[in-house]
Amino acid sequence: MAKLYFYYSAMNAGKSTTLLQSSYNYIERGMQTILFAPLLDDRYGEHGIYSRIGLKQEAVPFDDDFNFYEYAKEKKSEMPKLKCVLIDEAHFITKAQVAQLTAITTKLNIAVLCYGLRSDFLGNPFNGSKWLLAWADELVEIKTICHCGRKATMNMRIDENGQPVTEGNQVHIGGNDSYVSVCMKDFRESVDTFREYENEYEVQR
Ligand SMILES: [Zn+2]
Repeated sequence: MAKLYFYYSAMNAGKSTTLLQSSYNYIERGMQTILFAPLLDDRYGEHGIYSRIGLKQEAVPFDDDFNFYEYAKEKKSEMPKLKCVLIDEAHFITKAQVAQLTAITTKLNIAVLCYGLRSDFLGNPFNGSKWLLAWADELVEIKTICHCGRKATMNMRIDENGQPVTEGNQVHIGGNDSYVSVCMKDFRESVDTFREYENEYEVQR
Protein backbone atom coordinates (compact mmCIF):
# COMPACT_ATOMS: atom_id res chain seq x y z
CA MET A 1 0.00 0.00 0.00
CA ALA A 2 1.15 3.55 -0.74
CA LYS A 3 2.22 5.68 2.21
CA LEU A 4 1.82 9.22 3.51
CA TYR A 5 5.22 10.81 4.22
CA PHE A 6 5.88 14.00 6.14
CA TYR A 7 9.28 15.57 5.46
CA TYR A 8 9.65 18.25 8.13
CA SER A 9 12.34 20.77 8.89
CA ALA A 10 13.16 24.32 9.88
CA MET A 11 13.28 27.11 7.28
CA ASN A 12 15.80 27.04 4.46
CA ALA A 13 16.71 23.36 4.80
CA GLY A 14 16.03 22.63 1.14
CA LYS A 15 12.49 21.24 1.33
CA SER A 16 11.40 22.53 -2.09
CA THR A 17 14.62 21.28 -3.69
CA THR A 18 14.06 17.82 -2.17
CA LEU A 19 10.43 17.85 -3.37
CA LEU A 20 11.37 18.70 -6.96
CA GLN A 21 14.11 16.04 -6.96
CA SER A 22 11.67 13.40 -5.67
CA SER A 23 9.13 14.27 -8.37
CA TYR A 24 11.87 14.09 -11.00
CA ASN A 25 12.87 10.61 -9.78
CA TYR A 26 9.30 9.33 -10.31
CA ILE A 27 9.07 10.89 -13.79
CA GLU A 28 12.47 9.50 -14.79
CA ARG A 29 11.13 6.02 -14.02
CA GLY A 30 8.13 6.54 -16.33
CA MET A 31 5.62 7.46 -13.64
CA GLN A 32 3.44 10.56 -13.27
CA THR A 33 3.18 13.04 -10.38
CA ILE A 34 1.07 16.04 -9.34
CA LEU A 35 2.61 18.97 -7.45
CA PHE A 36 0.63 21.24 -5.12
CA ALA A 37 1.50 24.58 -3.51
CA PRO A 38 -0.61 26.91 -1.35
CA LEU A 39 -2.42 29.76 -3.09
CA LEU A 40 -1.12 32.33 -0.60
CA ASP A 41 2.45 31.94 -1.78
CA ASP A 42 2.35 34.24 -4.82
CA ARG A 43 5.68 35.96 -4.23
CA TYR A 44 6.79 35.16 -7.77
CA GLY A 45 3.67 36.13 -9.70
CA GLU A 46 3.08 32.82 -11.45
CA HIS A 47 2.08 29.80 -9.45
CA GLY A 48 4.70 27.19 -8.83
CA ILE A 49 7.31 25.64 -6.57
CA TYR A 50 10.65 27.43 -6.50
CA SER A 51 13.75 26.16 -4.79
CA ARG A 52 16.51 28.44 -3.58
CA ILE A 53 19.03 26.76 -5.87
CA GLY A 54 17.09 27.79 -8.97
CA LEU A 55 14.83 24.85 -9.80
CA LYS A 56 11.18 25.54 -10.51
CA GLN A 57 8.07 23.64 -11.52
CA GLU A 58 4.41 24.48 -12.01
CA ALA A 59 2.07 23.46 -9.22
CA VAL A 60 -1.67 23.16 -8.64
CA PRO A 61 -2.72 25.87 -6.15
CA PHE A 62 -4.76 24.92 -3.06
CA ASP A 63 -6.60 26.81 -0.33
CA ASP A 64 -8.47 25.59 2.79
CA ASP A 65 -11.52 24.49 0.75
CA PHE A 66 -9.56 22.46 -1.80
CA ASN A 67 -10.26 18.70 -1.77
CA PHE A 68 -7.03 16.78 -2.47
CA TYR A 69 -8.75 13.39 -2.57
CA GLU A 70 -11.42 14.39 -5.11
CA TYR A 71 -8.79 16.08 -7.29
CA ALA A 72 -6.45 13.08 -7.25
CA LYS A 73 -9.32 10.64 -7.85
CA GLU A 74 -10.43 12.57 -10.95
CA LYS A 75 -6.87 12.97 -12.28
CA LYS A 76 -6.16 9.27 -11.82
CA SER A 77 -8.52 8.41 -14.68
CA GLU A 78 -6.56 10.72 -17.06
CA MET A 79 -3.14 9.83 -15.67
CA PRO A 80 -2.80 6.02 -15.58
CA LYS A 81 0.75 6.21 -14.24
CA LEU A 82 -0.03 8.67 -11.44
CA LYS A 83 1.97 7.22 -8.55
CA CYS A 84 2.77 10.18 -6.33
CA VAL A 85 1.42 13.56 -5.24
CA LEU A 86 3.76 16.09 -3.63
CA ILE A 87 2.73 19.04 -1.45
CA ASP A 88 4.93 22.05 -0.78
CA GLU A 89 4.41 24.18 2.36
CA ALA A 90 2.20 21.41 3.75
CA HIS A 91 2.11 23.08 7.18
CA PHE A 92 -0.70 25.24 5.73
CA ILE A 93 -3.16 22.38 5.09
CA THR A 94 -6.16 21.70 7.34
CA LYS A 95 -6.95 18.63 9.46
CA ALA A 96 -9.64 17.62 6.91
CA GLN A 97 -7.07 17.84 4.12
CA VAL A 98 -4.63 15.61 6.02
CA ALA A 99 -7.49 13.10 6.26
CA GLN A 100 -8.01 13.42 2.48
CA LEU A 101 -4.32 12.64 1.97
CA THR A 102 -4.61 9.45 4.01
CA ALA A 103 -7.51 8.45 1.70
CA ILE A 104 -5.30 9.05 -1.37
CA THR A 105 -2.85 6.46 -0.01
CA THR A 106 -5.38 3.90 1.20
CA LYS A 107 -8.14 4.15 -1.44
CA LEU A 108 -6.21 5.23 -4.56
CA ASN A 109 -2.88 3.57 -3.68
CA ILE A 110 -0.97 6.75 -4.58
CA ALA A 111 1.99 7.87 -2.43
CA VAL A 112 1.74 11.31 -0.80
CA LEU A 113 4.89 13.30 0.00
CA CYS A 114 4.34 16.38 2.19
CA TYR A 115 7.04 18.96 2.92
CA GLY A 116 6.63 21.53 5.67
CA LEU A 117 7.66 23.31 8.83
CA ARG A 118 6.87 21.94 12.28
CA SER A 119 6.53 25.23 14.15
CA ASP A 120 6.06 28.96 13.58
CA PHE A 121 8.23 31.89 14.72
CA LEU A 122 6.84 31.66 18.27
CA GLY A 123 7.42 27.92 18.53
CA ASN A 124 3.71 27.05 18.09
CA PRO A 125 2.91 24.06 15.86
CA PHE A 126 1.36 24.75 12.48
CA ASN A 127 -2.04 23.08 12.28
CA GLY A 128 -1.25 21.04 9.17
CA SER A 129 2.00 19.80 10.68
CA LYS A 130 0.29 18.79 13.91
CA TRP A 131 -1.98 16.38 12.03
CA LEU A 132 0.73 15.22 9.66
CA LEU A 133 2.94 14.38 12.65
CA ALA A 134 0.01 12.46 14.10
CA TRP A 135 -1.13 10.58 10.99
CA ALA A 136 1.73 10.19 8.50
CA ASP A 137 3.03 6.66 7.93
CA GLU A 138 6.60 7.93 7.78
CA LEU A 139 8.21 10.99 9.41
CA VAL A 140 11.47 12.15 7.86
CA GLU A 141 13.53 15.06 9.14
CA ILE A 142 15.38 17.23 6.61
CA LYS A 143 18.26 18.56 8.65
CA THR A 144 19.86 21.97 8.63
CA ILE A 145 22.22 23.74 11.00
CA CYS A 146 22.13 26.82 13.23
CA HIS A 147 24.84 29.49 12.93
CA CYS A 148 26.37 27.99 16.12
CA GLY A 149 26.75 24.55 14.50
CA ARG A 150 23.97 22.72 16.37
CA LYS A 151 21.01 21.25 14.47
CA ALA A 152 18.44 23.96 13.73
CA THR A 153 14.90 22.96 14.72
CA MET A 154 13.22 26.34 15.29
CA ASN A 155 12.31 29.30 13.05
CA MET A 156 13.11 32.82 14.19
CA ARG A 157 11.50 35.80 12.48
CA ILE A 158 13.81 38.77 12.28
CA ASP A 159 13.16 42.38 11.29
CA GLU A 160 15.17 44.51 8.87
CA ASN A 161 17.75 45.16 11.62
CA GLY A 162 18.25 41.48 12.32
CA GLN A 163 16.36 41.65 15.64
CA PRO A 164 14.00 38.80 16.64
CA VAL A 165 10.29 39.54 16.12
CA THR A 166 8.17 38.09 18.96
CA GLU A 167 4.64 39.07 17.97
CA GLY A 168 2.49 39.15 14.84
CA ASN A 169 0.51 36.81 12.60
CA GLN A 170 1.60 33.22 12.00
CA VAL A 171 1.61 33.80 8.24
CA HIS A 172 3.55 36.83 7.09
CA ILE A 173 4.39 37.07 3.43
CA GLY A 174 5.66 40.10 1.60
CA GLY A 175 6.90 42.09 4.61
CA ASN A 176 10.42 43.21 5.33
CA ASP A 177 10.88 40.50 7.93
CA SER A 178 12.70 37.32 7.13
CA TYR A 179 13.50 34.06 8.86
CA VAL A 180 16.53 32.26 10.17
CA SER A 181 16.56 28.68 11.36
CA VAL A 182 18.18 28.26 14.76
CA CYS A 183 18.76 25.65 17.47
CA MET A 184 16.54 25.52 20.57
CA LYS A 185 19.22 27.15 22.73
CA ASP A 186 19.48 30.22 20.52
CA PHE A 187 15.70 30.35 20.02
CA ARG A 188 15.05 30.36 23.78
CA GLU A 189 17.53 33.13 24.36
CA SER A 190 15.65 35.40 21.94
CA VAL A 191 11.99 34.40 22.20
CA ASP A 192 10.06 34.57 25.50
CA THR A 193 7.47 31.89 24.69
CA PHE A 194 9.10 29.14 26.70
CA ARG A 195 9.48 31.23 29.84
CA GLU A 196 5.69 31.67 29.80
CA TYR A 197 5.18 27.91 29.49
CA GLU A 198 7.53 27.26 32.38
CA ASN A 199 5.62 29.73 34.54
CA GLU A 200 2.33 27.99 33.72
CA TYR A 201 3.85 24.72 34.83
CA GLU A 202 5.00 26.24 38.12
CA VAL A 203 1.45 27.39 38.84
CA GLN A 204 -0.05 23.99 38.05
CA ARG A 205 2.34 22.22 40.39
ZN1 LIG B 1 22.43 27.67 17.76
